[in-house]
Amino acid sequence: MTRTYRLGCLLGDGIGPEIVPAARRVLDAALDRAGAPPVTWLDLPMGAAALAEHGAALPEHTKTALTGCDGWLAGPHDSESYPAGWRASGARVPGGELRSAFGLYANLRPSRNRPGVPSRVADVDLLIARENSEGFYADRSMAVGSGEFMPTPDLALVVGKFSREAIRRVVRLAFELAEGRRQHVTLVHKGNVLRQAFGLWVEECEAAAAEHPGVRLETVLFDAMAARLVRHPEQFDVVVTENLFGDTLSDLAGELVGALGMSGSVNAGDRHAMAQAAHGSAPDIAGQDLANPVGMIVSAAMLLAWLGDRHADPAAREAAATMERMVDVVLAEGIATRDVGGAAGTVAFTDAVVAAIRGR
Ligand code: ATP
Repeated sequence: MTRTYRLGCLLGDGIGPEIVPAARRVLDAALDRAGAPPVTWLDLPMGAAALAEHGAALPEHTKTALTGCDGWLAGPHDSESYPAGWRASGARVPGGELRSAFGLYANLRPSRNRPGVPSRVADVDLLIARENSEGFYADRSMAVGSGEFMPTPDLALVVGKFSREAIRRVVRLAFELAEGRRQHVTLVHKGNVLRQAFGLWVEECEAAAAEHPGVRLETVLFDAMAARLVRHPEQFDVVVTENLFGDTLSDLAGELVGALGMSGSVNAGDRHAMAQAAHGSAPDIAGQDLANPVGMIVSAAMLLAWLGDRHADPAAREAAATMERMVDVVLAEGIATRDVGGAAGTVAFTDAVVAAIRGR
């Protein structure tokens, strides 16, 4: 059913104030074209500007306001640039804090070839479903503390966490997503060494496969996957894996099909989803109209698709598909930012996508 969405808009740091408004303009135009009511936007502080003005990179009132939102667009954060006092306080980076506060347990990162974009490989169209709440990233698994311990100055211990519940929910999502794609799920694991932790992953994938008889399950070891992803990336559809493996493989996949700036991503939970490009804040090019907004636009399209599925809303689904298609139309015309061989600035590229959506 068509509905009015309430979405947060968090600019973040570096190129965030350029790419987030770009994605917002494209999303607004696509919803308008689909005949859907306009989004109710909430501009909320996050990042270095929020730290300077409100004393926190992720102020409490931002979190409170997001609770009442259907989802949000979030720019990258550059916590390296925050004052030393912030680091000493032990505060989490805003993205991590949002993932944990809102239970955004699945990080979905697609990679595919796009017209006119030079790439190292062809025929790639895959989606990495990365478990986002635990695994080898020790800090994600802790209510208090970082999950790292130093019993002596020369010994560091790191906690990994693998719970059946967290594994089950991302595996289920991966199989549901595969139903709407090419019906193939690849589990990436390291069960030959870590038999218990990845035994849980294998068990949960086998259980999900039994519930989705049309979906083929394949299991691949993490090290073998690194090689296969380079040699035969076209063989993969939905790839499901733990946090650190997913982070690593999605950067590899993103770079194989073009450049970091092209990679979109959504962090999804049961009630909220956050669109945040897979790349970082790129401070080296910030404020110069050089940022590629495609990753953020694709992330915003994924958020709309997620909302469309969650609310059985054909207009949101249609708008998401329009955003994806029109990015390709513009790229195919040779309009692209410098990082992928073009000459357009962030604004000019975004103008072209908006014009394409409006039918010029
Ligand atoms: P982080 O630690 O936040 O992940 P990082 O410096 O490791 O940040 P990114 O900021 O993602 O990595 O990017 C690395 C480089 O890739 C940037 O310095 C920039 O030159 C380029 N880059 C990343 N995103 C974009 C983009 N959207 N448009 C153009 N170039 C980009």
